[in-house]
Formats: sequence, structure tokens, C-alpha cells
Amino acid sequence: MNKRRTANEITTAAFTESLASNRPSRSPIMPAVVYEMETTREADEKLGGVRPGYVYQRDAHPNADWLGEKCRELHGADRAFVTSSGMSALGLAVLALLKPGDEVLLSSRLYGKTVTMLADMARWGVHSKIIDMTDSSEVANHCGPNTRLLLAETISNPQLRVVDIEALARVSHEHQALLLIDNTFASPSICRPLDLGADLVWESMTKIMNGHSDVILGLMCSRGNVGEPMVRALSTWGMTASPFDCWLCERGLGTLEIRVQRASQTALEVAKWLSQDSRVAAVSYPGLESHPEHLLCQRQFVRGPNVVFGHMLMLQLNGGSSSVDRFLKNARPIPFCASLGELTTTISHPASTSHRACSDAEMAAVGIDRGTIRLSIGLENAQFVIDSLEKGLSSLDF
Ligand SMILES: *Cc1c(COP(=O)(O)O)cnc(C)c1O
Repeated sequence: MNKRRTANEITTAAFTESLASNRPSRSPIMPAVVYEMETTREADEKLGGVRPGYVYQRDAHPNADWLGEKCRELHGADRAFVTSSGMSALGLAVLALLKPGDEVLLSSRLYGKTVTMLADMARWGVHSKIIDMTDSSEVANHCGPNTRLLLAETISNPQLRVVDIEALARVSHEHQALLLIDNTFASPSICRPLDLGADLVWESMTKIMNGHSDVILGLMCSRGNVGEPMVRALSTWGMTASPFDCWLCERGLGTLEIRVQRASQTALEVAKWLSQDSRVAAVSYPGLESHPEHLLCQRQFVRGPNVVFGHMLMLQLNGGSSSVDRFLKNARPIPFCASLGELTTTISHPASTSHRACSDAEMAAVGIDRGTIRLSIGLENAQFVIDSLEKGLSSLDF
């Protein structure tokens, strides 16, 4: 008789013993889809939510919980939901919190796909209106009896305008609406919108939170019981993040503070250098005194040893796309790629990427044109970034 067993027939004691008697100093990756249970009662209680523990990865898993718990505290939130992308984190809030007849007020300075998602919701009877939220005194005039949600970015893409979160929260609450803030460009190292009165804070952790440009991941944090309906929606709509991605992001998060500090210092240095250069038509950086919301930033950004203003900056070249192409070609080794928040500095061109669908007039309305360049500053020495940009600028004819 053949006693040979195949791999799946062998249960090793080493597996259970090592889990019972060792405590790894770093989070392990836990990719198991299901967890074993002893009794029918245990199954019933875990699935009913009256006993803690994992059953099925789409509902919850350790890597998302370990990452979520850190993010929850970083934001001073009551609940944190880690999702499969930044967009699915927004989808989670939209599906869980809105109903037909509700109206959403959108800032006129938002990530393109945010606007697309809310526009698509019109098919389900959720209508949205786009307004300028940098002037918070104007916002109340647009609130109506059906206004349920206001949505703005802490630091907007790509002009880097900043909204007054405290003022927007006041207006939202006067109208029984919720304030949702996209904090992707800031991160909790720079701004904690829930402390300023926002009900929900949302981040694409694909960007500076993970910081290494190797995962797509989202975060939705909430205050009080606002997030309750999202528990069920996360699992039902299958927006759960992969354990491996959560593990990578938890690792990236360990250096968030130091990456944000360093990149922000370099960004300020680069912004000052660019703003004194006559070949550059305009520079926008919240840390410059010329920035329209510079004082507001000082008030609402996190106070460390000193206030820092983020890793994103915008500059404007004369001569439109052809200047930009020449600049891109010569500013190497800084690569032209559409994402941000990486270890290395990257250049993006809104007119051919995020704002591709916009007309010249639509771009002008949000303060950009075909010569607008967005920089995401990384961890190189400031001089390396300046030297690369100098090569790009000196290739243009003036
Ligand atoms: C990238 C981004 C998103 C979307 O996040 P994904 O992780 O790409 O789905 C939303 N808002 C802002 C400001 C972003 O930069």
C-alpha cells in the first residue's frame, strides 16, 4: 500500500506551535481567505458580530486592521476603513451614506475622477453642484434642504489652493450636512481635518501615505457614528484591500513623518528658487508668502517644531505644451509620470493627464493652462532637484 501523502494531506505541528509561542516583532502578511472555527456557535457569533475574530477576508482581515488602527489614531478618528484604492474609499462613503434625492456640493478644485463618480451618481438620483469653496462665506448660499454632503480637498490638485476646513464644517453642520475632506496631498502629518470639524477624511494611500509607489490603497476615516453604515458596505460591495498591499503600506507609514518633513523642506527651497526666476511665469506653493491661503495654512496645519506645507508644488511656463515638452526632455533625470508622493521627485502635466478632458476656458477657470507643471518633491537633496529643473528651464528660448 502506498503511504505517500501529498502536500495538502500533511498538517504540520510547526505551523500551530510557531503561532502559539512566538510573537514576531513586525506584522506578518496574513493572506488567508478563511479562518478555521471550532464550533457552530463560534461561527454564528463571529458572523453575527457579537464575538471578535476573523471569518472571511472580504469582511475583515488582520493586515487591514493593523494598518487601519494606525491610520485611525493618526487622524484622531473613531473609525478607519482601509479599501482597495482611493476611489473605492470614496465609493464606500457615497454608497453607504447617500440616498436618492440627496444633493452633494463639490469644490471646483477636485481630483477629476471624484467629479466623474459624483456625476455618475445622478443615475441613482444623487445630484451634485460644483462651487468655489475657497470663499467659505459663499458656500452657505448654495446649501439647500437636500444638501447632505460637502466635498473639498485640503490642498487642491493641481493649483494647491487650500480650503478653510473649520469654516466649511460650520456651514455644513448648520445645514445638517456632512463635510468630507480629501486629504491626499497633505496626509495626517500636515493636516488632521477631523480635529477641525470635518466628519469624514479621505485619502488615496497610493500617494504619500504609502510613499513608495508600489500599492494602490485608500482610507476613509470617520467621527462619531458617521461611519457605522460603512462597515456593512465595505464587505457587501467588496472594497476590501489586499493583505499584501496593507502590509506594504504599514511599512511605508513608518517613515511618513520623516518623509513629509524632508520633502516639504526641499519643496519650500525649490519653490523659493523658482519664484525668483524670471523664466517661470508663476509658482504656487502653500509655504510661500505669496500663496493666497498662506496664513490659513499656518493656522490649520499640524504644529510640529515648525509648520510644513507639503511636497506638492505647481509652476507655470510660458509657451504652452511645446515649452513643457522641451522642459520634460531636459529636466531628466526627473521623470514625467502622472502619480505623486513617491520617494523620488516626479513631474506631471495636468493638461495632458488629469485635466485632459477640460477646455482651455475650463482650465483657466481653475487657474491652469497648457504650460502648467505639477511637481511632487521626493527625498533627493534639494540641489539635485534644483539642478535638474535648471537644465529644463535653460533649454527654453526666452
Ligand atoms: C490619486 C488621488 C485620488 C484617487 O486615489 P487612487 O488611489 O488612485 O484610487 C483621489 N484624490 C486625490 C487628490 C488623488 O491624488
